[in-house]
Amino acid sequence: MEEDYKTQYGLVGYPLGHSLSPLMHNAAFEALEVDALYKLFPLEEEELEGFFKDLKDEFSPIFGLNVTVPYKEKVVQYLDNVDPLVDKIKAVNTILINDERKLIGYNTDAPGFLAHLSEIGFKSEDKNVAILGAGGAARAIVSVLCLIVERPKTIKLYDIDKGKADLLIKDIGEMINVDIVETVNSIDDLNIELADLLINATPIGMKEDDPCLVDEGLLHSDMLVYDLIYNPAETELLRMAREKGAQVSNGLGMLYYQGVLAFQHWAGQEIDQNIKNIMREALEKGLGL
Ligand code: NAP
Repeated sequence: MEEDYKTQYGLVGYPLGHSLSPLMHNAAFEALEVDALYKLFPLEEEELEGFFKDLKDEFSPIFGLNVTVPYKEKVVQYLDNVDPLVDKIKAVNTILINDERKLIGYNTDAPGFLAHLSEIGFKSEDKNVAILGAGGAARAIVSVLCLIVERPKTIKLYDIDKGKADLLIKDIGEMINVDIVETVNSIDDLNIELADLLINATPIGMKEDDPCLVDEGLLHSDMLVYDLIYNPAETELLRMAREKGAQVSNGLGMLYYQGVLAFQHWAGQEIDQNIKNIMREALEKGLGL
């Protein structure tokens, strides 16, 4: 029974649909024999302020949260403190609620993406990057690629709404040097045929009948195609890229690393590799892999 758990963690967003995060975090709690439960908090916008106010209550059972669309930027106003990376990216996907009920915000999407790039052996220094979509995920990815020492040579960013891409770059550009980023008017201007790394940061590809945004003829064997989508495990874009001989990756690795980093913020310490493996296996099992 849910009420039997003393401590709760969870995911705030709307709508939440099917999330793999509970599987990953509850597997870790179980393996560590921690009496805690990770659950979903699907909150409509008008419920958000009250929810965050209640987190301050000394009897609240909630000690950690993840945040997803559409609230990653909105929740910053409710926090007592944020990690320096959040000051730059201006988006939070992880919140720690400490014993004094202070809310501390982190972004683990950005280092999670980098950790996975490193795992698959992609070196971004001096590379040409093309990104589809300028939402929350692209915000974290563009920011972190601009912040690292091994910066790409160029980042081209396309969104169906160019104004949104321009606003994103203007916003993060207040704290981050975005001189390598160019927002483009059309998908053709992404120069995908010249890209070393193509990232799909749109939700297009999640539904079975979704079109592939990219012309197959532009994909080539000298590129990494990274689709942030992990369900399905192989989108049409990834299938086409694989057939063209490109290196491919779905978003499961990023989900895993951001989850591990979030868990470590809540735990206040690094977790053992065997627990990390259990988290990854839970994700893979959840996807039927
Ligand atoms: P988001 O904030 O909704 O951003 C998606 C952006 O793509 C929006 O600006 C959207 O525009 C734009 N877009 C939609 N259709 C497009 C098209 N045909 N051409 C160009 N741009 C288009 O979502 P998000 O949070 O960034 O997430 C994006 C995807 O990444 C989702 O599939 C999500 O599940 C995935 N994700 C994965 C991870 C992971 O750990 N693997 C983490 C975060 C997100 P409109 O708003 O006008 O539709």
